[in-house]
Order: sequence, then structure tokens, then C-alpha cells
Amino acid sequence: MSKRGREEEFSRSCIAFDIDGVFKYGREWSKDGHKALEKVTKAGMPFVFVTNGGGGLTEAAYGSSMTTKIAGAANADKPTVIGPERMVLSYTPWKTMLANDLADSRVLLIGDPREKVLEVAHSYGLTYATHYQDYAIKNDTINPFRAAKAGGTSHTAVAVASAKESFSGKAKAGTPGRAASPAAEVPFAAILVMCDPYEWYEAHQAAVDVLCSPTPLSLEYDAHAPPMPIHFSNPDVLWKSEHPFPRFGQGAFKLALRALYTERLRFLRVPAETIDERIAAFKQWGKPTESTFRFLEARLRELSPKPGPVKAERFYMVGDNPTSDIEGARRANIHHRKDGTTTWQGVLVRTGVYKEGDETNGAASVCDGVAEAVDYILQREATFS
Ligand SMILES: [Mg+2]
Repeated sequence: MSKRGREEEFSRSCIAFDIDGVFKYGREWSKDGHKALEKVTKAGMPFVFVTNGGGGLTEAAYGSSMTTKIAGAANADKPTVIGPERMVLSYTPWKTMLANDLADSRVLLIGDPREKVLEVAHSYGLTYATHYQDYAIKNDTINPFRAAKAGGTSHTAVAVASAKESFSGKAKAGTPGRAASPAAEVPFAAILVMCDPYEWYEAHQAAVDVLCSPTPLSLEYDAHAPPMPIHFSNPDVLWKSEHPFPRFGQGAFKLALRALYTERLRFLRVPAETIDERIAAFKQWGKPTESTFRFLEARLRELSPKPGPVKAERFYMVGDNPTSDIEGARRANIHHRKDGTTTWQGVLVRTGVYKEGDETNGAASVCDGVAEAVDYILQREATFS
């Protein structure tokens, strides 16, 4: 390369911040978050927030709420405005990495609250997303317990109004409508598990039906259809809520779904190797997956629009979880082993799940909190300039 070419090369350094256990602890927000962001902004370093949560909020809604909370915790007059481009929620990568291919296809959408996840799906251009609860309400035999629950009765035959009684107008108020004609059924192309569903039974039953057949109202099992793509946004089996001990998360929903789907296929006498193939089509997103870290890199590059060839790219992942945040950085380094340009450093903080003495999983540094983590990164970066 010519001397001139070398002069045009530049180094890029960016930060991805985890949220829970870093900027907030339960419902408390860190007093140091505001100052940490001010320092990063002043240094001109691109940054994003990345979480395995999202709760069905849009990136704009989440970012706007973070802006207020972080500034509020520090009593700051001038908040650091966090726009939607800085928010990487568990399902955010789907907008660019998935939604184009599914824009006109029918997808089964799993997650709650219903209105919010539908809003997110529509904002991604998924025009034909069918929410699992709407699907079960429209086709009222999918979930035999829904009508019983709504009517405060039992699902046993003796308690449920027969079809004949229903037709004579004796059906209870709130009984969902009749099933759509299977002949009119539009095939499903994919299942998206956007966040935790409130109705596990209904979500599991609907998902297994669609996994077995793209037209599950008319065909129980379609041996000729390719494995139905199913995407999960968050791998965490457990998460910390206000309860003293961890609660089941989306990773637990996936474990249960895999077990139920496997049993359902065995019942249909599907060969073991076909079952394995179908289960292998399950696609995981979120930290520490490669898909999410590739997306983080792309987004951080977009936020540092400096032209010219890159000499070195140093990405930092600041998080409290060695098996999620730091593991993601570790895997990203394995991915980039051969390119010699891109490196990730995991920076662990002591304000969340990591406790002194735990395995750090190769973190470059362990810091007391987010302010110290930012100081560590800025000091390290100073050694490169
Ligand atoms: Mg965390």
C-alpha cells in the first residue's frame, strides 16, 4: 500500500452497553450512567445499548424512556438523548436481517403485550403478522381451555355447550367466533418469538401446530414442507424480576417448546433424523449469539460514518453477565480470529449478576460500575492514539 494509502487508514473504537445490571439494578437507575454517557459522547465514541429484553416496546419508546431515567437518576439538566438507532433490543436485528424476506408472508407472532408486539412487527414492515392469541380466538378449537376460562366453566364435554346448543343461540357471552374455513387458510412462512408470551399453553400449542404444518387447520403434519423457520429473540432461561428468586424467561419457553414438538413428532411416527432436522431449524438471537454481535458491529459502524480503510476496529462490550455479555465478546473474537482487524474486549461490572470470585470468562477488566468501565476504555484507547 502507498504511503498516502496508509495515511488514510483509521482506527475505530465503539462501545456496546448492556442495560440491566449496568445502567439499572432492578427498578433503580445508576447515578453514574449520565456521567458515563457524557464522557463517551465527548470522546466522540459511537455507542449503543444492547439488551436481551425489550418487552415488546419499539426502539423509539425504549430509548425515550432510557433518556429520561438516566438523566433523572443523576438530576441532570441536560439529558443525553438516546435515539432509536442506539437501541438494540432482543428483536431489533430482525428489522434489517429478517423482515425484508418475510414482509408479505404470513408469520405467527408470539409475545405479549399483544398490541405492543404487533406495533413493533408492523414498524419492521411485517404486514401479515398473526398474533398467536388472535389466531386462537379466531379458530376457537385450537385452545380448548380458552373458552372454558372465558366462561368460568370447565373444558369437559359435559360442561361445554354443544355445537347444536351454540347454534340455537345458547352459547355463553364471550365465546369466541367459529373457526375459519380451512380451505381459506393462508400458509404460515415463519414463527417469530418476539418476547415472552403471557399464555404459555396457547403459544406452545399454536407454535407446535404451525411447526408441524404450514396449514395447520387442514393438515396435521406436512412431511413435504421444509422445516418451518422459528426465531427466538432471547436465549435467557432465567431472569431476575422483583421476586426474590429468578423467574422463567424466553429460553425456558423454547426448552419446553422443543420438548413438546419432539413428542408431537414422535406421536406422528416421524423418523428420528427428521425430528433432528426440524429442531435444527430453530434459530436463536440475542446475546451471546453471533447474529446479534454481527448486527452490533454493523450498527456501530453506521454510527461512525468515517470514510477510508480501517486499520483496526476495537469493540467494547460492557456488561454484568460473564455468560452472556462477555461470552458474546469471546465468540466474536473467535469469529474474527483470521481477519486481524476487528477485536472485542469484554468489560465486566460488579453491579449485576457477576459476583467476586465468579469466572470472568476472559473479561479484559472488572470494574466497580459503568463510570469506571468507561474510564478504563478511554484510558486504554488513549494508548492507541
Ligand atoms: Mg445485564
